[in-house]
Amino acid sequence: MLFKNIIGHEQPKRFLQSALQSGRLPHALLFHGQDRIGKRLMAKVLAQAVNCEAAPPLSPPDACGACRSCHQIDIGSHPDVTMIEATSGKGETEQTRDIESRFIYRPLIGSRKIVILDNADLLRQEAANALLKTIEEPPPDSLIILVSSHPESLLSTIRSRCQALRFAPLAVDTVQDVLQRRRGLSDTDARFLAMVSGGRLGLALEADVEALRVERAAFLELVSRNSLQSVGALFAAAEAVAKSEQAEAALGWLAGWFRDLAIIKVGGDPSRLLNTDCLDELNRFATNLPLEKVLELAEFVETMEKGLERNLNKQLMLEGLLLRLRAALQAKAA
Ligand SMILES: [Zn+2]
Repeated sequence: MLFKNIIGHEQPKRFLQSALQSGRLPHALLFHGQDRIGKRLMAKVLAQAVNCEAAPPLSPPDACGACRSCHQIDIGSHPDVTMIEATSGKGETEQTRDIESRFIYRPLIGSRKIVILDNADLLRQEAANALLKTIEEPPPDSLIILVSSHPESLLSTIRSRCQALRFAPLAVDTVQDVLQRRRGLSDTDARFLAMVSGGRLGLALEADVEALRVERAAFLELVSRNSLQSVGALFAAAEAVAKSEQAEAALGWLAGWFRDLAIIKVGGDPSRLLNTDCLDELNRFATNLPLEKVLELAEFVETMEKGLERNLNKQLMLEGLLLRLRAALQAKAA
């Protein structure tokens, strides 16, 4: 992959290329933005561009994608470029050793020693301090690229010493277009996946459309007539989802569902609907719920998503949502 082939992320790309051009690439960078959006890919391309052996160097600065160095970085065997993943499963000592051992030697064949540290926010205290020390006194010819979906969890002292570059989701149309070209997906499938992925191309390129449809059907069963027919059925449905450990995914689909309902209620642009293939069901709900209830329920789902981050009781939250929905539908019917 080359800079020029990366889709979207124009701002970080422009910054990096002009920093390379002027020879002023900072020694510590922080790539942040949602998960699976393209941060790691950009880090790898940057590593390739920095250590590319093409002569003369490309202009604007880029990787050639063909030299020994570009190839080695691509397959993860370049002696001066390391990708470390700070998974929460790793112990503190192991993490610290990871950080400290990488910068000891000068670059062997490249112009810079590069460490890409993925999930940097998952570093434990001792390792984070070792990282801070490395960033404060960077070894010559070193470059550290922190990759994080939760930059707020990084030590502020680390954040403030890195040049931060934010990665934003791509436009849904762009993702749809790429999916159609690269994966040969139909209009409908590509649109659905582009919407579900929220503009995260990395996610969209790998996701299984059919599996997602099955998952959605399972979670939307929660708001079906069956689940809402009685309070008992509703409690059982909420319990099943809470126990499946998939409450987060369920909430994501429910949030999309209520957002769709809101779009329909206000007569918004139908191309912004996530569940375009469930229009009949959406319309039935829209007819039976007043706008203010739809908005109230959408807001409740959002509160629940935040509650999930704080580990509130999933089953209770889901029950609360379904009880509200049932009450709203009954009020309309009465
Ligand atoms: Zn090259």
